[in-house]
Amino acid sequence: MNKLERLGIRTDMELVLHLPSRYEDETTLTPIADALFRCEGPVQIEGQIMASDVQYRPKRQLVVSVSDGTGVMHLRFLHFYPSQLKQFSEGKRIRARGELRQGYGGTEMVHPACRIVEEDTPLPTALTPVYPTCAGVSQHYLRKAIAAAQSRLDLVDTLPPSWLDELGLPGFSEALRYLHYPPADADETALLERTHPAWRRMKFDELLAQQLSMRRAQRARRLLKAHAFGAAGHFSRQFMQTLPFTLTKAQLKVVSEIRHDLGRAYPMQRLLQGDVGSGKTVVAAIAALQAIDNGFQVAMMAPTEILAEQHFRRLSDWLTPLGISVVWISGSMKKKAREQIVSMIQTGEASLVIGTHALIQDTVQFRHLGLVIIDEQHRFGVGQRLVLRNKGESQTMLPHQLMMSATPIPRTLAMTFYADLDVSVIDELPPGRKPVITRLVSQERREEVIGRIQAAAMQGRQIYWVCPLIEESESLQLQTAIDTRAILTEALQGLSVGLVHGRMKPDEKQHVMAAFQQGRIDVLVATTVIEVGVDVPNASLMVIEHAERFGLSQLHQLRGRVGRGDAESVCLLMYQKPLGDTARQRLLTMRETNDGFAIAQRDLEIRGPGEFLGARQSGQAMFRFADLEKDRDLIDKAAQYAQVLLAGKMPDADAIISAHLSRWLDNREEYLNV
Ligand code: ADP
Ligand code: MG
Repeated sequence: MNKLERLGIRTDMELVLHLPSRYEDETTLTPIADALFRCEGPVQIEGQIMASDVQYRPKRQLVVSVSDGTGVMHLRFLHFYPSQLKQFSEGKRIRARGELRQGYGGTEMVHPACRIVEEDTPLPTALTPVYPTCAGVSQHYLRKAIAAAQSRLDLVDTLPPSWLDELGLPGFSEALRYLHYPPADADETALLERTHPAWRRMKFDELLAQQLSMRRAQRARRLLKAHAFGAAGHFSRQFMQTLPFTLTKAQLKVVSEIRHDLGRAYPMQRLLQGDVGSGKTVVAAIAALQAIDNGFQVAMMAPTEILAEQHFRRLSDWLTPLGISVVWISGSMKKKAREQIVSMIQTGEASLVIGTHALIQDTVQFRHLGLVIIDEQHRFGVGQRLVLRNKGESQTMLPHQLMMSATPIPRTLAMTFYADLDVSVIDELPPGRKPVITRLVSQERREEVIGRIQAAAMQGRQIYWVCPLIEESESLQLQTAIDTRAILTEALQGLSVGLVHGRMKPDEKQHVMAAFQQGRIDVLVATTVIEVGVDVPNASLMVIEHAERFGLSQLHQLRGRVGRGDAESVCLLMYQKPLGDTARQRLLTMRETNDGFAIAQRDLEIRGPGEFLGARQSGQAMFRFADLEKDRDLIDKAAQYAQVLLAGKMPDADAIISAHLSRWLDNREEYLNV
């Protein structure tokens, strides 16, 4: 394999965009007398070799003494080659750069970078780049390769000069030159922190390319075909009449956006965002009915069995009375039952199919799939969603897609990662919801908390008790849950304490959840399996043990399980002292706000974007240079300029777009919301 391929570099452009992670200043020499006085830090000295000795104290080492007339510096080499002994011979002139250290005999340099020079060997005028690299690829090799690539490439600017003026950014080749070879007086902090205009130019270009490619993909999708569904038919009308509540304004708005999309002859690609409890399921049901009214099937996929089963229960409660056949399919189903369902799907007898990943297996074939709904979409990979989409009747007639997420995505993320999707937001909760009151309680007060639970249960309230996350060991986590249940059963005489955890068989899990739903269980001890989607409105008290171990979004999701009914709900975050800084920040944020978007924004600041993107990026960062947090202003600008380019009003827009994309996306995978 080519050396550079080990660094993921395949083209000259990628080579040139392999930017330094830091620099070394070899542009100046420090007089040895000053260096000796300074005692620490990096220096570069130059002088004549006075002596070069192999010493034994206690191990064999080479000590080279160098004088520049102002003082004598000892260079110590603990490992050395015989050739170096010869190279560093008395009388030669040596230039050495490295850290100062206090040795037995005063200030010295251990293993400095050295080279033999002539009296008049010039000092470099630019800072020396240090590139990210791996074993076997030297800095020297990279520097040469990058310089060569730079001279081979045509680095003409892809952006018009007037834009650069407006944006206050340097030209492309100028910026590159600056980053690889900054002048000696460059602002090193701005370079290291990547806030220098030269860095901002790279980031802007990268963000613009991403915006352009996503928006182009969105346009390309409009050329694909889907069945256009006429507006509300028989089932839809009946459903709206039987609905036990009125939709919120926000729900009505997203329903109309979706209805509009489904009426088009190209596939809908919409992300429905709404905080936990905002009522996405009923919106999904209404969308499903539009497809069913038009004679098509609907598939709804959820990431966990608990969630899929709950959707199934809720949707069949709503829809079977209307005469619609709702089925569910899961991995844990018995073969017979499953075969029967699979056949109902194939014949078209089943109109709404709800399931887990089992839905995307080969054996599942639809007769005429018109709409795919994916709940908690960030839990699925692009590949999985693609498989489901391709279960439409042909490769050219695609089903519409509705993706739902209760993890509110901060705006910057939505603008970048979801630039190719249409986004609907439910930004209001159903009426009558009282915000959950969140309290922080130290673990020392556990007894007191148990007492409170007893009192609450006596009043007919139901309680979740969430066991601590133990990342290192799943079995320990399980054991803790089992122990907790035993302790609570003992302490809460006369109450029924249930347990649900990730290792349970799906039907056991369902059994427990159903019992809790029906009020036969008072206190449900749970691991984080209840994190997503579970809806038991009568549960109004939640205790989270070792809340300091959970992430913000996770805490918010968990807390969203209460506050769904009429009763005032309380969430007790129990924590272990002492609290670290970030943990304290998280818990205080939870106490301060119930607003999912505010929490998501804080989480993004604390933890970065990975959590929000989940499987879709398979952990791979999308940007080389841009930082979604620090470069928010550039994201806005890139989106704005991409729009200008795609608006079709600039005469040379197409040339700019194709030049820019070929520079930035050449050979690089595009991450799109297929
Ligand atoms: P999520 O958005 O978290 O998936 P759900 O769809 O589970 O939320 O809805 C939460 C609860 O709110 C459910 O019990 C649902 O029936 C109820 N609900 C949804 N919309 C309304 C509404 N407009 N008015 C009253 N209750 C509603
Ligand atoms: Mg939901």
